Amino acid sequence: MDDLTQQIKLCQQCQLRSGCNNVVPGEGNFNAEIMMIGEGPGKNEDLRGKPFVGAAGKFLNELLADIDLKRENVYITNVVKCRPPMNRDPLIEEIEACKEWLNQQILAIKPKLIVLLGRHAMSRFLPNLKISEAHGRAFRREIEGLGVFVFFPVYHPAAALYNGGMRPVLIGDFRKIPKLLKVIETEKE
Ligand code: URA
Repeated sequence: MDDLTQQIKLCQQCQLRSGCNNVVPGEGNFNAEIMMIGEGPGKNEDLRGKPFVGAAGKFLNELLADIDLKRENVYITNVVKCRPPMNRDPLIEEIEACKEWLNQQILAIKPKLIVLLGRHAMSRFLPNLKISEAHGRAFRREIEGLGVFVFFPVYHPAAALYNGGMRPVLIGDFRKIPKLLKVIETEKE
């Protein structure tokens, strides 16, 4: 996994690398049961080379603490590892260029649960769903090149910063995670 992280840092496969300060491969526990996937680095993440370290990251830390988890217990990454200019949405070709990195991270970590933070991360794995209907529900899906994983889409933590009504929804969805992990474990026995 360290090797993979180094390779990601050297990636030049799309135009995003020339416009960003730092590649943000991801951070956390390589043996984590839970992987969290966001959209892409923002300004603070780009400057520090770490995912979710700005305002959205602060709220993510709170959401994790509320279910007795620390960032060190999970692995946090993004669909694209380089900041899109002016925080625009990543383009399809940029998501494609980064696809194999994310796939390799998932295969190395083998998480029991993949939490998809926001609709961009969701559409990468569950393309036909709407976040307003799918958030807070678990989906077991076979993904080409990956195998079977359990995905749990939630609203993006940044959305709750703009829309206070989403805060309790996100908190409620996160509170389902511990039980969901237990269910996944018992299903495997
Ligand atoms: N938003 C994201 O989707 N990812 C980050 O790393 C930070 C903000």
